[in-house]
Amino acid sequence: MNYPCAVIQDLLPLYCDGVCSEESSRAIEEHLPQCPQCRACLEAMKKSEQTFPSAVEEEKKAASFRRLKKKLKQRQILMGAGCVALAALVLLVTSAALKNIRRTVEYEDNIQVTMEKSGLVSQLEGTVWNTCASVTLETREGNCLFFCFTDTVWDDLVTGDQTYSHYILCPADKGAGEIQ
Ligand SMILES: [Zn+2]
Repeated sequence: MNYPCAVIQDLLPLYCDGVCSEESSRAIEEHLPQCPQCRACLEAMKKSEQTFPSAVEEEKKAASFRRLKKKLKQRQILMGAGCVALAALVLLVTSAALKNIRRTVEYEDNIQVTMEKSGLVSQLEGTVWNTCASVTLETREGNCLFFCFTDTVWDDLVTGDQTYSHYILCPADKGAGEIQ
């Protein structure tokens, strides 16, 4: 049975997508060899489908691209946060390590010793010290008080080693105090 061209051409889009019934397909396949017009129609349809993917396809591609972009952005944010956290950790570990590198601060050249009412007072001029430890030793001349001043590499970086300070030592208190 031969169908009119209009009916065949109505069916062609379904045929092209491979979704039309067996009966319709048979009708089209019988009609096409005898009708150059409908053949041209089918050719044009196939061609346009190749060159212009359907809007649905385009939307699918756009959506997957958007998802990919979102994923990349999330990854970037995560990586950024990770980098900041890592940098903070490195700084923390480094500063802790530098604070542990303790060095002795030498005052031997610039100690002034004077006798005051409270006892012997030593005035020091030199680089800033971070901690002070003292020990009293009994000698034949009497009690001898030793002070050990230390600072850390971290102090160097933070305060600089050119800073001068005055400190006063009072053996009577076995301590050290800043007078300025
Ligand atoms: Zn036809």
